[in-house]
Amino acid sequence: IRVTVTAIPIPMACSPAFEGKSIRKEEMYAEFGGGRSPAFELLRVRPEAEVEDGKVTVIGPEIETIPEGSAAPLGIVIEVAGKTMKKEYEPVLERRIHNFVNYGEGSWHVAQRDLIWVRLSKEAVKNGVRVEHIGKLLASKFRIDFPDLLDAVQVTLITDPEQVLTAKKEAEAIYDERDARIKGMKDDDADTFYSCTLCQTFAPDHVCVITPERPGLCGAISWLDGKIAYEISPAGANQPVQKGGLISAENGEFEGVNRFVRKASHGAIERCQLYNFMEYPMTACGCFEVIALVLPEVNGIMVVNREYKGETPSGMSFSTLAGTIGGGVQTPGFAGISKSYILSDRFLQAEGGIDRLVWMPSVLKEELASRLKERLKAQGKGDLFEKIADERNAETIEALTEFLAGVDHPALTMDSIL
Ligand code: SF4
Ligand code: ZN
Repeated sequence: IRVTVTAIPIPMACSPAFEGKSIRKEEMYAEFGGGRSPAFELLRVRPEAEVEDGKVTVIGPEIETIPEGSAAPLGIVIEVAGKTMKKEYEPVLERRIHNFVNYGEGSWHVAQRDLIWVRLSKEAVKNGVRVEHIGKLLASKFRIDFPDLLDAVQVTLITDPEQVLTAKKEAEAIYDERDARIKGMKDDDADTFYSCTLCQTFAPDHVCVITPERPGLCGAISWLDGKIAYEISPAGANQPVQKGGLISAENGEFEGVNRFVRKASHGAIERCQLYNFMEYPMTACGCFEVIALVLPEVNGIMVVNREYKGETPSGMSFSTLAGTIGGGVQTPGFAGISKSYILSDRFLQAEGGIDRLVWMPSVLKEELASRLKERLKAQGKGDLFEKIADERNAETIEALTEFLAGVDHPALTMDSIL
């Protein structure tokens, strides 16, 4: 590959060519997040006077005092100012942190929001790379890539354990506010969806089709965000997708969507059904917050989130499953999804709806509890919540079969899922 290295004053080469390169455990100096330590990222617009362009602050230990091989906490807070910059643009720009950190030859980034996982390589640290340089890289790349939008960018990197936790709480409230902005919008009311192909840099045929009721699988891009991103950069990674003629309302299949996906996947994907994942599911890059998959033995579907490290009744952990379905391929019976999609009316629509959901880790269940209960109650299924198993009552398929029979789970008497 020919590498064009942008001159950012840090002791590490920086180019989109490095984006597909991962940092293995043996190669890593230290890591941040990934379920091993608290971490998050947040981008916010601030008044001009409060943002000093190029300023990078590290609050807490620098790399010299972070032991080799350890997992340290990290908060990435980016504050931007610009006359045409708007609050609505925040999530769209925030998603670029993922790409930019991966541009560094010795820095690596996966996932989003409070799920991020960042690594710095031994090689990079040996060459003098410090936590501060991630900030320098981000500040520079945001200015270079959004010259019309941003006049000033400052970055704060928090490595102090207590301060990360406090700032993470605040960030989580902001993520919730963003998710609430799209609440109530329906797919039927939109004749245009939005695509996202940001992840094609490492999953070349991957296309997210984002609808009001189905956010991008990373959970960081909603339909509104896609619309806004297209407004900011009309030739960018988010394009309008005309729904076109209806092929199947139940499966969520549209002529226009298929046409778009065929082209954007370079011919690799012929059909893409938005509400059915048994035959032509959306492709999965690797950023999914949650994996949904069929459990034929119990005629149901389970979901597992990135934070859950244990085994699941499928016999596979999240990381094993992620290795199986990622890379931008279409895997029938499996789907990479966002957490909030579980709360959507469209979730499992073609499979018979939420009644199919038989298992989810208790952490995810607790996180979604109040919103999921509210949704189930509205559908007259108030008792379903307790019938969804988790690892505390079923870790294997045998235990799950027994649990579901015991609670008389509706999936057991539904049409065969295969
Ligand atoms: Fe875009 Fe999908 Fe990647 Fe999220 S996962 S950045 S929506 S392509
Ligand atoms: Zn991705």
